[in-house]
Amino acid sequence: MAHGFSPSERLREREEHDLRRHLNPAEAVAARTRFADDPKDGTIEFGEPELVFAANNYLGLADDARVQRAAETAARSVGTGAGASRLVTGDTAIHRSLETDLADCKDAERALAFSSGYAANVGTIDALSPDVIFSDELNHASIIDGCRIAGAETVVYDHCDPADLHQKMSDREATGERDASWLVVTDSVFSMDGDLAPLPELCDVAEQFGAWVMVDEAHATGVFGESGGGVVQRQDVGDQVDVQLGTLSKALAAQGGYVAGRESLIELLLNEARTFVFSTGLAPPAAGAAREALRIARDGDAREHLWANVERLRAGLEGAGYEVLGESQILPVLVGDRTDALALESAIRERGIVAPAIRPPTVPDGASRLRVAPMATHTDAEIDRCVAAFESAGEEVGLL
Ligand code: PMP
Repeated sequence: MAHGFSPSERLREREEHDLRRHLNPAEAVAARTRFADDPKDGTIEFGEPELVFAANNYLGLADDARVQRAAETAARSVGTGAGASRLVTGDTAIHRSLETDLADCKDAERALAFSSGYAANVGTIDALSPDVIFSDELNHASIIDGCRIAGAETVVYDHCDPADLHQKMSDREATGERDASWLVVTDSVFSMDGDLAPLPELCDVAEQFGAWVMVDEAHATGVFGESGGGVVQRQDVGDQVDVQLGTLSKALAAQGGYVAGRESLIELLLNEARTFVFSTGLAPPAAGAAREALRIARDGDAREHLWANVERLRAGLEGAGYEVLGESQILPVLVGDRTDALALESAIRERGIVAPAIRPPTVPDGASRLRVAPMATHTDAEIDRCVAAFESAGEEVGLL
């Protein structure tokens, strides 16, 4: 009787259900680049240049010379890696400067950098160790994993629905055991629907029940708010949100995550968040790059370009006859059927446009879509090429 694993059997099952995923190396992280097929024998052969409408590098700063120089300077002056956990010898001046700037941007007392947004979510929820967590049904996987690892009772409320949150909090309170610590957690921009959480209403409900609020601004930092402070800043709820969390890997073009909040929260996290304590400090080049990207994002020009591109692309896609969801820089083009979504994805790809089909189980059955994300660095002509590709591809596969 064998008790081993069977990776090939599991992969075959994925293949059968159309769920097998593959890696495709890109030549560069930019608005336009070349891709190669999964190189089985180690040789990478790039194809023709394509336009990328699939990345979270919203401000197009990953190949910006200023950000690249900041990464290089940090590598030269501090080192290529932190060399140890922040609590041992991995805490450096570049980490502190980044945290000061993040706290300032978020109008918070202090910020703490983690090695990824994923680690920030898991470590923070686990360290807070709430008795009950109220979580939006479409929250990111790293929030879900944080809830699991924390071992808390998790109540899932309907997507962006403060009335349902209120109902579920009342129901929970009516059970008679009013636990000491309740946490409401939500993304601020939902990455598959491109919609925004109604933070003022959610915060009001949380306040009625004395719950803390934690907001994941992964897709909002550097993009929303007067100085890129996110949806918390735009909806002016900074004083009602206890934990502002995000990533350095999207608009900030680097790698890493952060939490911003009160001094006592940050001190607790640096003592008790296991993903912070037991993981090497953020790599100094990532800290340097994120800091420069944050400066550029706060400056405003890149954000203006992004929003002009979003507007032009949404208008073009809607003009072509597509239904485009959301109200953010993420433009989910609704297709419906999963096979149609895959057909549209490959038809636009043949036209040099990269935008992924999102299918069940990531989205509900019948709600498959293409997730189209423009960058600040796309030109008007490139946005128009994307629209034209959607138009002719849609006709070809019978969607328009
Ligand atoms: N939160 C959200 C909402 C995200 O979309 C992501 C990344 N996809 C993360 C957290 C994780 O961030 P990171 O990629 O830095 O681990």
